[in-house]
Amino acid sequence: MTQRVGVMGGTFDPIHLGHLRVAEEAVEALELDTLLFVPAAIPPHKLGKIILPFEHRWQMLRLATEQHACFKTSDIERRLPGKSYTVVTLQKLSEERSGAVELFFIAGLDAFLEMDTWWHFKELFELAQMVVLRRPGYNESEMDGFLKARVSSLYTYSAADACYRHPHLLPVHYLENTWLDISSTRIRQLVKEGKSVLYLVIPEVMHYIHANQLYRGEGLLETEPYRPEDVWDCRQSEGNGG
Ligand code: ATP
Ligand code: MG
Repeated sequence: MTQRVGVMGGTFDPIHLGHLRVAEEAVEALELDTLLFVPAAIPPHKLGKIILPFEHRWQMLRLATEQHACFKTSDIERRLPGKSYTVVTLQKLSEERSGAVELFFIAGLDAFLEMDTWWHFKELFELAQMVVLRRPGYNESEMDGFLKARVSSLYTYSAADACYRHPHLLPVHYLENTWLDISSTRIRQLVKEGKSVLYLVIPEVMHYIHANQLYRGEGLLETEPYRPEDVWDCRQSEGNGG
């Protein structure tokens, strides 16, 4: 039987209660069998930024998801060579399951509104139904214009199922999820300042951060130095998109 699999990509540096709660709500709203958290190994958008080595981010993700019946983790982006491109990841995840899978790619509105800078981003809308999450600080009204202008003007909103439909591409859902003003950036900052992060992350993740003395200083440079040419941007290279 075809499995309904949600895929949530991210840096997860670290995973926090914002990620976990919206993931839970996505599972419920879309009746997913599995929600797969897929940490980026070398996120193209974070080249040159300081992020923790994959192993620490992976361990915290494991701690945060192991108690949940539907939450699973995939280290596929560590296994794939080179940078982590979501289009490639989704293709591989489908292949690994012999195609017997209906994929839902779950992204916060902040990530969604940047998708036109992702490598071959239009193919995402052929590979997976998109699930966009509300996020404080990002304007919901921008979603409609972005989808129609950057992806396809043939998307039309169907109020009955809170979803955009298209004659050829897959549906795009908008989730009425709880607004949680939590970000990994803020958590890293709080730890650096010696402040508590309890109730922003699960206790096991908080203990892991302290036991490994993470986020105290400048951190470790996992990624290669930033080179603008590495970030594929269809706004500068129209015609290369999927
Ligand atoms: P950073 O501040 O380092 O960018 P982050 O909190 O945005 O971290 P990411 O790992 O970048 O976390 O996010 C992974 C995915 O989860 C993205 O699609 C992002 O939009 C979504 N997301 C993260 N936090 C929230 C939140 N509080 N509400 C809704 N979506 C979220
Ligand atoms: Mg982010």
